[in-house]
Amino acid sequence: MNSLWSNLVQNLDPYVAGEQPKDKTYIKLNTNENPYPPSPKVMQAIQSVTASDLRLYPDPDASSLRTAIAEYYAVSPTNIFVGNGSDEVLGFAFVAFFKKENPLYFPEITYSFYPSYCRLYEIRYRQCAMANDWSIQFDDIGDSPGGIVFPNPNAPTGMLLSLQQIESLVKRYQDIVIVVDEAYIDFGGDTAIELTQTYSNLLVVQTCSKSRSLAGLRVGYAVGHPNLIAALERVKNSFNAYPLDAIAIRAATASFEDQVYFEQCCNQIIETRDWFTAQLNALSFQVLESKSNFVFARHTQVEAKHLSKSLKEKAILVRHFSSPKIDNYLRISIGTREDMEGLIDSLGSILVA
Ligand SMILES: *Cc1c(COP(=O)(O)O)cnc(C)c1O
Repeated sequence: MNSLWSNLVQNLDPYVAGEQPKDKTYIKLNTNENPYPPSPKVMQAIQSVTASDLRLYPDPDASSLRTAIAEYYAVSPTNIFVGNGSDEVLGFAFVAFFKKENPLYFPEITYSFYPSYCRLYEIRYRQCAMANDWSIQFDDIGDSPGGIVFPNPNAPTGMLLSLQQIESLVKRYQDIVIVVDEAYIDFGGDTAIELTQTYSNLLVVQTCSKSRSLAGLRVGYAVGHPNLIAALERVKNSFNAYPLDAIAIRAATASFEDQVYFEQCCNQIIETRDWFTAQLNALSFQVLESKSNFVFARHTQVEAKHLSKSLKEKAILVRHFSSPKIDNYLRISIGTREDMEGLIDSLGSILVA
């Protein structure tokens, strides 16, 4: 007990991010960062920032960025909300839509930030079980959920739901908000953004951190009906009027204006992922079918904990979650082809040892 802390803070269960060690140079495959640099146009935009851009407060509505995102997805800027990373956008969505009488539903195995937000905002939640094939059992949701959130593709399984599956959920539960967290959608999935033009209870959240190589910039966004965007604006303006700084607004805007570079990077990662999956299979790993920039895999004989420790000694970081059910899996981010060749070589030598 800490008498200086509020009861709320004593009961929090904060998210633990993957490590960013500074002791030596690692091949970092533990936090799903993109191995490629951001578009050169992003770097030019950052260099064009002037002293007065920094002296003045930024545009509180980030209009240039919202317009660029809207154009990219052929929707209206009134459909777009932007925030300081999609973690912030998700946090705002939880308080805007899920702090209700009835419980929020999300998958049992999923992004571990969701239960953290529930503690912070005192939101009741229930979990949908995972089937043996790691699909999400949405049948567990009763008749009156307070809201539903899941990543698509799911994390850390990497598995994708079809747009038909999403549409049937959105249709079935029209009087609550369904948030689809599309942090990894650009690596082979179809975005549900077009469904937001038909269904006013669907909010799609995306990020520039993974597919746009901008994890350090902190830019995320939501796409949905203007009524949902208005609720997010109310939360934002009750907390911080300027979540995006002037540099982030400019740089992220430039990223959406360079579609060719973006598509090249995504295609390269998809190609490397599919090559790497085949290599893992050849080393007796079972690999879930991933549509993300990571794979979730378990070795048929050797414990994941041992593998992650041995790889760290060889200066390669992968993510191991010690929670039950998934503690024999490794989540491995897709780096460059060279990174993944290095990992396959190291795994080969660990497995024969
Ligand atoms: C990485 C990730 C995010 C958050 O990304 P930001 O860097 O905060 O934009 C959100 N959801 C999932 C499932 C993620 O993996």
